[in-house]
Amino acid sequence: MEEKKTLLHDFKNVWEQADDAQTQEIFALGTEYKGFLDRGKTERECARDIVRMAQEQGYVSIESVIDAGEKLEAGKKIYALNRDKSVILFVVGKEPLEKGMHIVGGHIDSPRLDLKPFPLYEDSGIAMFKTHYYGGVRKYQWASLPLSMHGVVMNKKGEKINISIGEDADDPVLFITDLLPHLAKDQNQKKLGEAITGEGLNLLVGTIPATDEDKNKVKANVMRILNEKYGIEEIDFTSAELEIVPAGKARDVGFDRSMISAYGHDDRVCSFAGVKAILETENPTYTAVGMFMDKEEVGSMGNTGSESRYFENMVAELIALQVENYNDLLIRRSLSATKVLSADVCAAFDPNFPEVYDKRNTSMLGNGVQITKYTGARGKGGCNDANAEFISEVRNLFEANDIVWQIGELGKVDQGGGGTIAYILANAGAEVVDCGTPMLSMHAPYEIVSKADVYMTYKAYKAFMDR
Ligand code: MN
Ligand code: MN
Repeated sequence: MEEKKTLLHDFKNVWEQADDAQTQEIFALGTEYKGFLDRGKTERECARDIVRMAQEQGYVSIESVIDAGEKLEAGKKIYALNRDKSVILFVVGKEPLEKGMHIVGGHIDSPRLDLKPFPLYEDSGIAMFKTHYYGGVRKYQWASLPLSMHGVVMNKKGEKINISIGEDADDPVLFITDLLPHLAKDQNQKKLGEAITGEGLNLLVGTIPATDEDKNKVKANVMRILNEKYGIEEIDFTSAELEIVPAGKARDVGFDRSMISAYGHDDRVCSFAGVKAILETENPTYTAVGMFMDKEEVGSMGNTGSESRYFENMVAELIALQVENYNDLLIRRSLSATKVLSADVCAAFDPNFPEVYDKRNTSMLGNGVQITKYTGARGKGGCNDANAEFISEVRNLFEANDIVWQIGELGKVDQGGGGTIAYILANAGAEVVDCGTPMLSMHAPYEIVSKADVYMTYKAYKAFMDR
C-alpha cells in the first residue's frame, strides 16, 4: 500500500517505532548507563572511568604519543586527560586534521555543593561543614536528603588522598536539615528561592564529643575520625576539593521501567552516549573527537573548562605529528573545517508545569534526541545560533540512520534561559549545533531521563562521529 503523502510533520515516539530487538537494545543500554552513573558521581571520578574504558579499547595517552614522536597513523586512538577533571578522546581520521574533525562535546561536572575551604565548625553540640554551592542549584531541594562526599584532599606532604563516602549501603551519609512544618510559619511566607539560603546549607557531620579536649569537643572528635581514616588535619581542607552530592544509585522509574532517575544526568547522559559512540568508532574518514569537559556549570572557565586552550593545544600537538612543518594556519584551518554536536541536555515538556513551555517547540520525553538551534536568554542573548545549512546536514544524517529526533528550545520566550558550550568552538570557526537528551527536573538532586532518548542520543552521536 502506498504511504499517504502529507506536507505536515509529526515527530515520532521512539517506543512506538521500535521493534522487539531495538526495545531490548534500549533497555540494555539503560542498564549500562546506570553503571556509568554509579561509578562516576563527580568530574574526577567520571574522567577516570572514561580513561579506563578507553584504555580497555586500546586508547593510549597523548603524552605517550607525543613522546614517541611517531607519525600519526589513521585509526590511532588517543586520550588526553586534563588534570584528572576533563578528558578528550580522539580517533585519528583518514583525512588529515587540517581538513577538520567531527566532535561530540559534553560535560561531566554537575551542580552540587562544595565544601568551603575551611568548612568544619561546631554549634550547639553538633559538628557541621559549611558549603558553597556549585552551579545552578535550587537550594531548597538539598535539605532533608542523604548526601555523600567525594573528592580529594592534598595533605601537608603533598599527597593526594581520594575520598568517597556515603555510597555503600553501610557507609554513613551527611545531611542538611529543613524546618519542621510546625515552626515554618515565617519560612512559608518567603519566596521559594529564599526559604533556604546559601549560608544555611550546612551539613550535619557528628555529635559525639571528644573526651580529651576542653572546647570544640565534637568538632575535635570528627577531626580525629577523619585523621584516623584519611590521615588529614584541619588545615588540609584548605587544599582540598570535596564535593557533596546526593547519595545512592541510579534507579529505574515507572512501572514500565522506561525512565531513569539519578544525580548528574546533566551532563553525564550525553557524555555517556558520546563515550559509548566514540569507543565504537573505527577508522573514521575525519578525526572523531569526544570531549568530556569540566566547569560547564560555572561558565566553562578555568584550565579544565571548555574556554581553556587545552583542546586547541592538544590538536596542535597531533597536527605537529601529522605534518613535516607545523604552522599556526593548520590549526586554524582544522577548527574552521570542524563540525560539532554540542552534547548537552535540554528540558523536556513537563505536564506538571505546562505554563513554562511552548508545547510545539519543546521536546517530549521518549521522542528521541533533541536538536536545539539556539539557547540563550532575553532574545537568545549569549547563544550559538546554528546555521540552517548545518542543521540540514545533521537532520539528513539522522534520517539516513533511522535516528528518532525532535526539535525544541528551552521553555517559553522570556521565561528564563540557559547556555551550553556550543558557542566556544563556534567562535573558533566550527559549525556547531546543540544536540542532546531531553530531561525532566533538570539540576534537581535526582533528574529524570527516558531510556529511549538515551539510546537515540547514542545512535545520533555514533552516526555523527563514525562517518
Ligand atoms: Mn549541561
Ligand atoms: Mn546544567
